[in-house]
Amino acid sequence: MLHNVKVVLVGTSHSGNIGSAARAMKVMGLSNLVLVDPQCSVDEQALALAAGASDIADNAKIASSLTEAVSDCALVVGSSARSRTLEWPMLEPRECGVKFVEEGQSAPVALVFGRERTGLTNDELQTCHYHVCIPANPEYSSLNLAMAVQTLSYEVRMAFLEKEQSQYATTELVEYPRHKELEMFFEHLEKVAQKTQFISEDQPGKVMNKLRRLFNRARPEAQELNILRGVLTAIEKRINE
Ligand code: SAH
Repeated sequence: MLHNVKVVLVGTSHSGNIGSAARAMKVMGLSNLVLVDPQCSVDEQALALAAGASDIADNAKIASSLTEAVSDCALVVGSSARSRTLEWPMLEPRECGVKFVEEGQSAPVALVFGRERTGLTNDELQTCHYHVCIPANPEYSSLNLAMAVQTLSYEVRMAFLEKEQSQYATTELVEYPRHKELEMFFEHLEKVAQKTQFISEDQPGKVMNKLRRLFNRARPEAQELNILRGVLTAIEKRINE
């Protein structure tokens, strides 16, 4: 399942960090690296710091936006040094590892890291199901990017090893919708909310953000999301009659 874990670095500006992140991943058995809008290339410095993990840095996929990078993922977790900038469901690093190992069995899952100086934007954070914060020294809690990758990859590995040892404990696999299906649902919901004049197109306010938060928290399963899409389609049909 470890190949299903994507490490996504957003807007990285120091190539050395890409190399160090690749090394941090490989020692923990992770291999799937995605760079979103990188501000540097995978250059000599990146490869020097990657050492024996230069294959991972070399094979990193490039995406132009976070939404594109995680569109096929059923679980997206954003890491942030600031724990509660947004009211969003939080995971402890340990819980995060366990969740990745459970859900990574059946679908791709993504662990997202922000820019060295500014982290992830609010929009990017709101595209994640959960946030994870490494509970570092409150007086200086910001880890170097590659070290944050190391710490959270270690948690994934620990959970993976634990699961391997308890191979008889079976957990029921739940099918969650992929990120792009959730995004399509939010678009549909917004359209119907506008058509029914629940929200006005000119002054949308914060309703959609709040609804995003609600559905992120509820984590509808794939089948439940289909039901919700069906309800929206039925409302649309009735309006158009
Ligand atoms: N000044 C930035 C810190 C960026 S550090 C900020 O305030 O957000 C670069 C990235 O490393 C962060 O975006 C985050 O993904 C990760 N990171 C650093 N420290 C972290 C911590 N304590 N917990 C979780 N992620 C952390």
